[in-house]
Amino acid sequence: MDLELSPEQSAARRLARDFVEREVAPYATEWDRAEAVDRGIVRKLGETGFLGLTVPEEYGGSAGDHLTYVLVTEELGRGDSSVRGIVSVSLGLVAKSIAAWGSEDQKRHWLPRLTSGEAVGCFGLTEPGTGSDAANLTTRAVRDGGDWVIDGAKMFITNGTWADVVLLFARTNDTPGHKGVSAFLVPADAPGLTRREVHGKLGLRGQATAELVLEGVRVPASAMVAPEGKGFSVAMSALAKGRMSVAAGCVGIAQAALDAAVAYAGEREQFGGPIARHQLVQELISDMAVDVDAARLLTWRVADHIDRGLPFATESSVAKLYASEAAVRCANAALQVFGGYGYIDEYPVGKLLRDARVMTLYEGTSQIHKLLIGRALTGVSAF
Ligand code: FAD
Repeated sequence: MDLELSPEQSAARRLARDFVEREVAPYATEWDRAEAVDRGIVRKLGETGFLGLTVPEEYGGSAGDHLTYVLVTEELGRGDSSVRGIVSVSLGLVAKSIAAWGSEDQKRHWLPRLTSGEAVGCFGLTEPGTGSDAANLTTRAVRDGGDWVIDGAKMFITNGTWADVVLLFARTNDTPGHKGVSAFLVPADAPGLTRREVHGKLGLRGQATAELVLEGVRVPASAMVAPEGKGFSVAMSALAKGRMSVAAGCVGIAQAALDAAVAYAGEREQFGGPIARHQLVQELISDMAVDVDAARLLTWRVADHIDRGLPFATESSVAKLYASEAAVRCANAALQVFGGYGYIDEYPVGKLLRDARVMTLYEGTSQIHKLLIGRALTGVSAF
């Protein structure tokens, strides 16, 4: 892999860094306290082209390769994980799935809206009773003439209360396992669909997270994405790339933690000089630096594999597992460097730790990624 960025990739990273410094970082604490980012940020993300990365220009996307997507995602994650998550879901899981699997009508209808920020998408896979074991989901779609009628519930859906469209996964026949799952594009204002905000999250407090309940929600046959029974493939291919995006966001958290720790260690004085001169503080900082580098390189490798058409699912699990654990370690170490000041939200590191914590849980917990990596290496499933 060529680790030197092209002029276009460097320019995209600079653009994202400037955007975050101007539009995101100054408000991150306020949004965290208010439990809501300003919705206007979605339009701004769309105008800058960040909601259309890798989506073909003919559908309103801003094209670009996956490394560019990773670079931009890292910068967003460095500024605010709630904002990063909006992009990772609306673009990464929903728009990219429509671009890959959708009908021509679905692409023409939804992609220009999603990439411009006029509409927001959410990804409805997890249910109250099925998280890691997603293939056993119980939301059901039954054929009724030319329509499908959907009943069930979804849990922890990012962008849930904001979204205009749900990429929803439902069982369309009784075959056990994944073969009976299909994917649908359900407009969020469909009669019978109710959404309830999940409050009290430890982190990602600026982001809307919702429970969705579907009671007799009727959609036309044309709302199905990919052929009937292919829904689990849609979900898994979305998540394989989505995990790269989570990993990139984690690199951003880890880098932000490192930057904050280095700056504070130079300013804070104890025992007659800056705490940076104490070897144990330098150990905290150097461990963080190693984690940041390793997580970034693993994440770039996934993008490189995708851009070169190579297999990337296991590499994506490796990057997500490592980067999410590294983000937690780095944010925790930065808090240690800040001492008591790290524990109050006037300083940024406590929020970094709270935001980082969920990264080892969603889009596959750390345990699930270990099982995926173990299965790829041994050929034996331990699920
Ligand atoms: P469980 O699956 O019940 O797991 C509980 C524990 O058991 C974990 O430690 C897990 O690792 C362990 N475990 C489970 N099975 C095994 C096994 N076979 N071997 C070893 N250990 C095991 N979902 C969506 O569909 N869309 C979203 O947009 C979305 N956004 C989210 C946002 C937030 C803030 C959160 C918290 C969650 C979100 N999720 C979303 C759901 C997320 O993907 C799930 O929480 C995750 O998959 C874990 O499922 P669970 O919470 O039911 O935990």
